[in-house]
Amino acid sequence: MTTYDYDLFVIGAGSGGVRAARLTALGGKRVAIAEEFRVGGTCVIRGCVPKKFMVMASDFSHQFHTAEGYGWTIDAAFDWPKFLQVKDVEIARLSGIYVANLGKAGVDLVHGRAVLKDAHTVEVTHRDGGESQTITAEKILIATGGRPWMPTDLAGVEHAITSEEAFHLPELPKRILIAGGGYIAVEFAGIFAGLGVETTLIYRGPNILRGFDDDVRAHLAGEIEKRGIKVILGCQHASIEKTATGLVNKLENGMEIETDVVMFATGRVPHVKDLGLETAGVALTDKGAIQVDTLSRTTAENIWAIGDVTDRMNLTPVAIREAVAFHETVYRNNPQHFDYEGVATAVFSQPPVGTVGLSENEARHACPGAVDVYVSRFRPMKYAFTGSDERMLMKLVVDGESQKVVGVHIVGPEAPEMIQLAAIAVKAGLTKAQWDATCAVHPTMAEELVTLKDKQQPGNMSAG
Ligand code: NDP
Repeated sequence: MTTYDYDLFVIGAGSGGVRAARLTALGGKRVAIAEEFRVGGTCVIRGCVPKKFMVMASDFSHQFHTAEGYGWTIDAAFDWPKFLQVKDVEIARLSGIYVANLGKAGVDLVHGRAVLKDAHTVEVTHRDGGESQTITAEKILIATGGRPWMPTDLAGVEHAITSEEAFHLPELPKRILIAGGGYIAVEFAGIFAGLGVETTLIYRGPNILRGFDDDVRAHLAGEIEKRGIKVILGCQHASIEKTATGLVNKLENGMEIETDVVMFATGRVPHVKDLGLETAGVALTDKGAIQVDTLSRTTAENIWAIGDVTDRMNLTPVAIREAVAFHETVYRNNPQHFDYEGVATAVFSQPPVGTVGLSENEARHACPGAVDVYVSRFRPMKYAFTGSDERMLMKLVVDGESQKVVGVHIVGPEAPEMIQLAAIAVKAGLTKAQWDATCAVHPTMAEELVTLKDKQQPGNMSAG
């Protein structure tokens, strides 16, 4: 019988890889994990966590404005280098916790870049130089995540940054242009606008956040414009030119916009480059993601893959659930696949979005009969004294036949917190009557969700 150095070798110490490694080691297996950069991966080091800190830093400007309406006098100034410093200290602390937890579980951490040499062998080149190390394992799990993507054929694109550099800009720009209309583009547009940066968002499609409910898209586009973001739709870059005073964004519609920073948030791609996948018999999909079956097994019998590198649903909690399912399937004789239905998600735009289940448009295709839609738009109570015309959107999408609430969409303060709870009811398949039987908490914004009475009339339907 062949003996291997490890039972499991995990490539990539992000949210998914770390969870799988820890569970498997705690189950008594010999496990090693390789990380070429910093333990914690996209979420902790250059994604969700630092992004949320930036959103919170930025949102204070809005809070100060609200506070003035209540009688406060605010004389606020923002110190970008100080923020970067405290943010980086916290990220280092969190990364340290990940490292400690791996150690406590008995996982060997290998700092370096792992490349597959065959289906059971990896070669790890250490970050700090020195000899590379050859390690064998019975099973291998690939959890290398994704990387930002930019249109490389665009003239001048080398002057642009991605979200990865946006976390470390040496100084806060005065003007920024962000290209893209997805999560990262709208989140960073809100961050920079809130920090006082003149912000332009340019998106090639008819409205931001393709794939979200159309009312959410329209509502958010309107709200971010109220917060001072210039939104240019149906347009792309023709080129970027560096001049003595900044970067000139030449757009396909003939417009020219000069900014100090140009950021591309035009999607992320699976991080598979030079991993040695072919040598190990691991195939890719047409879109360049690692091809897996429903149990996350690749085309190589002893190799699995989870998280963004498989490009299924690129969200941290999903990668963690995929890791748990992998562990149950492979090491606990309990085949499990993650259920991608009813996963709630939040966009940390300003105001933020929370959404779960079907958009109105999706429901009209998926539900056999009618679809009932309940919409409420109102001014959050908090803004009563600010003169702000900011509006909250709450929308329930109900399958007319079963009366189950199949979609909930919220734009406004605390939407991400609310949607987590609403997701329980959607996942449980509760009906509109059951939502309505739940007594309201007053005065809150969330009470609207259990007091929506008037169905949207057909003539008043949204485009979706
Ligand atoms: P998204 O896929 O959400 O959005 C990419 C955007 O770039 C889309 O608007 C897309 O347009 C546009 N785009 C793509 N190609 C081009 C091009 N050649 N020229 C111009 N525009 C282009 O990617 P993000 O980078 O925003 O985020 C990556 C993933 O990370 C998300 O899908 C999400 O899964 C995850 N994420 C989740 C967050 C959260 O949970 N809060 C936060 C951040 C990221 P079009 O729509 O027309 O294709």
